Amino acid sequence: MSKGTLYIISAPSGTGKSTIVGEILKSDPNIWFSVSATTRSPRPEDKEGVTYFFRTREEFESLIASGGMLEHAEFCGNYYGTPKQSVFDKLNEGRDVILEIETVGAYTVMDACPDAVSIFILPPSLEVLRHRLEKRGTDSEEVIDRRISEAAGEIKKSERYDYVVVNGELEKAIDDVRAVMKAAKKMTKLNNETIKGVLEKC
Ligand code: ADP
Ligand code: 5GP
Repeated sequence: MSKGTLYIISAPSGTGKSTIVGEILKSDPNIWFSVSATTRSPRPEDKEGVTYFFRTREEFESLIASGGMLEHAEFCGNYYGTPKQSVFDKLNEGRDVILEIETVGAYTVMDACPDAVSIFILPPSLEVLRHRLEKRGTDSEEVIDRRISEAAGEIKKSERYDYVVVNGELEKAIDDVRAVMKAAKKMTKLNNETIKGVLEKC
């Protein structure tokens, strides 16, 4: 059985990546969403083990120390990280895996897993991004200011990603991400076994 594809999806907070990823997961049961651990406080819509594993700083630091994290980063004063074992288990079962993570962690995964396919979702502008964060209504004005100032730095780091999609009109962005995920399956770096197999028959 061939291994699944590891997708890294990043975007400044509020761009719409959870909305887009949610739609993609609904339409493809072969894709597995990696639930991250975090030290941030749960929001009303959060569910333990579904949106995140909520951990104290001490618990999180002991997960890092035990080598249980594929990557981790500190973002807006909180730890976020990807539990390692479950990601590799799912890939080995042939499931595609989505990591919805920020750029520091994404760079760590790009280095550790060169076969990963990375997609950066851009907001149409920082002004639109602020409106979306305000409309979402989950963060204080102070946290929104902090997220906007982090956004510019994150957008600069998009240059190392394989693909960039702008989330202007939602349906179009969802279609674009689906198209990119499909095209990525044909990347040369993911098809070395196929190429070898054909050559063996020569
Ligand atoms: P992220 O996961 O990147 O932090 P969310 O998916 O939570 O962002 O989206 C932030 C807010 O913007 C939500 O209220 C969501 O409904 C809204 N949103 C997402 N995409 C669009 C879009 N293309 N146009 C308008 N609003 C959007
Ligand atoms: P939020 O607090 O809005 O849920 O997430 C804040 C940021 O942390 C987002 O950019 C989100 O993608 C990122 N994030 C979520 N999980 C992880 C993770 O496991 N690792 C890293 N590095 N970032 C994550």
